[in-house]
Amino acid sequence: MQISEKQIELVNNRIQALEKAGSFYGKKLKDAGITEIHSADEFEKLPFSEKSDLRDAYPLGLMTAPEDEIVRIHSSSGTTGTPVIIPYTAKDVDDWAIMFKRCYETAGITNMDRIQITPGYGLWTAGIGFQNGAEKLGAMVIPMGPGNTDKQLQMMQDMKSTVLCSTSSYALLLAEEIEKRGIKDKIHLKKGVIGSERWSDKMRERIHNELGIELFDIYGLTEIYGPGIGINCPGETAMHYWDDFLYLEIIDPVTGKNVPDGEIGEIVITTLVKEGAPLIRYRTHDLSRIVPGKCKCGRCYPRIDVIMGRTDDMMKIKGVNVFPSQIEEVIGSFEEISSEYQIRISHLDGKDTMRIYVEASGDYDWASLSKRLAEKVKSRIGFTPIVKIVEIGVLPRSMKKTARVIDERYD
Ligand code: ZN
Repeated sequence: MQISEKQIELVNNRIQALEKAGSFYGKKLKDAGITEIHSADEFEKLPFSEKSDLRDAYPLGLMTAPEDEIVRIHSSSGTTGTPVIIPYTAKDVDDWAIMFKRCYETAGITNMDRIQITPGYGLWTAGIGFQNGAEKLGAMVIPMGPGNTDKQLQMMQDMKSTVLCSTSSYALLLAEEIEKRGIKDKIHLKKGVIGSERWSDKMRERIHNELGIELFDIYGLTEIYGPGIGINCPGETAMHYWDDFLYLEIIDPVTGKNVPDGEIGEIVITTLVKEGAPLIRYRTHDLSRIVPGKCKCGRCYPRIDVIMGRTDDMMKIKGVNVFPSQIEEVIGSFEEISSEYQIRISHLDGKDTMRIYVEASGDYDWASLSKRLAEKVKSRIGFTPIVKIVEIGVLPRSMKKTARVIDERYD
């Protein structure tokens, strides 16, 4: 997915704004003697920006438009102390709402829907992003914010909400409450728009089954507007993203080089028209891949796969970058095997070894099954693992992907 001429023109526009404002990135470019770029090659040589750069700019060092044009700030908390402050102009706020409206439309949501919003309002971007997009669409918003499950369910029944906007964990909690209270026939929900956090397929299935609603993954991060920069379309898992507002790259998180379309790597985002705090080549540390080819739905917007984890999850084995999600994908393609697995990496006799433990019932021929799994993993990652099959129920049950990988090389 190479950067287009039109996108290069927009990037140059942002480069000039950043240099004029003298923000951290503007200075970086000036020091490198760059005032504009002319090709995809030159674009790929531009320096990255990192969350730490944004933190260093606290409080208002990212502000790139004149103060009289700034109408709002948002903030991402971050676990390490200093927050990041993102200033927005009126146009930024409007652009974000346009993108979010497009997300709702992609999910088949219309101005006749009643949208119950449960993410929080305030400094962070979630609640208000869902709200502005819904108002742009012309739907009826029920702006609940988080918590107060009793009231949440009461409003859901009385207002006959048709769309639930939520985190996956809160959607699951609501689904379980609805089941417990036996009020499923009073609930009118048809669709759920679930904010960007990683959630397991099992969780998705439970919410889908218990609420009987169609689920959509919405992508976004506070540094880049907020939620609403991408969403999947009905019947597909890959998410369309809006390439008239953003340019996405997938890079190898170690070398920083772009990977070919279809390969997993880190999502790097450039904002093409953002005024308040434009970002160029911002490293998200989210793992995904470009899904090549055109979508069945006919939309021309490019697609990324569901978020497969964070770059911190990446393992380097035998000199190859391996992501747990790659192994998980292969395991998921075997009906004979349960969804639980464990990966152990060790260093024996001067060599890295990967052992994959999976579960299957005794009805299958384990020898042939483990051979087929090993071969399929090899075709995916480039080397052959040792596959061990155990009885169903033997492996520890865990929701967290990372806990399933045990690296014994550095003990
Ligand atoms: Zn589509």
